[in-house]
Amino acid sequence: MPELPEVEIAARNLRRWAEGRRIARVASDPRAARIFRPGDRGGFARALAGSRIVKVDRRGKHLLVTLEDRRGLPLGLWSHLGMTGKWVLREASDAEPLHARVRLDLDDGRALLYLDPRLFGRQRVVPGADFASLPEVAALGPDPVHDGIDPGRLAGRLRATRRAVKVVLLDQAVLAGVGNIHASESLFAARIDPRRRGAGLSTAEVRALARAIGASLRRGIEMQDGPEIAYVEEPGAPNPFRVYARDGERCPRCREAEIRRIVQAQRSTFFCPRCQAGGAARRA
Ligand SMILES: [Zn+2]
Repeated sequence: MPELPEVEIAARNLRRWAEGRRIARVASDPRAARIFRPGDRGGFARALAGSRIVKVDRRGKHLLVTLEDRRGLPLGLWSHLGMTGKWVLREASDAEPLHARVRLDLDDGRALLYLDPRLFGRQRVVPGADFASLPEVAALGPDPVHDGIDPGRLAGRLRATRRAVKVVLLDQAVLAGVGNIHASESLFAARIDPRRRGAGLSTAEVRALARAIGASLRRGIEMQDGPEIAYVEEPGAPNPFRVYARDGERCPRCREAEIRRIVQAQRSTFFCPRCQAGGAARRA
């Protein structure tokens, strides 16, 4: 599933491929109507055809594309990759890949394709490029890459709730862009039991956690760098993570315990019961 690193690479690629380009034609898959809600395929195509892509931004897991419509007025495209979405570039003569849901033909003869096998992604036209008018965007907390992670603010958010630290990290109002993978990986790196209450973490642990989240996201961006992002859930995809989806395997750090999988707030958490045991901060 996409988290900040995948969306960051999507933004960089779209910037490189399409900034300054005009969208000559828009096509979409009739089976993919749900990704355009609350709009529809026809309205999406009418709004974007003839517009020029001015700027591609990212906020958390959200792609915010600013365009200029045919009259030169600002127009927004909000793109969320859902669970399995990705943007790719193809030459006009290339065969269309599987699960292509949106096709934006550019004025240089190439095409941007939005692929999404499971159709949990969203593509939405935003009048005036007023992205802050979208509740999904307005609710976002600081972006760890753009804004850094302030350990004091993170500690405040962790203290303000009774929820487990792992569950708090998935809240996009706390840190925008952290998802299931990087929450598990960061807690492992910081040696914090994901089941502990956020309010019970020491100042040193929160600092270690903030550093670990930053490092995990930066590593994710480096790993995903390339023309097509890859999801670990895809058949045959390698797993580059230390604990994520590694339940039953030997812990890569202590080499004694097995990585466990538990479910918190309907999401899988992976951790080492030995390295991440106890309430006090410990150092490697
Ligand atoms: Zn371990």
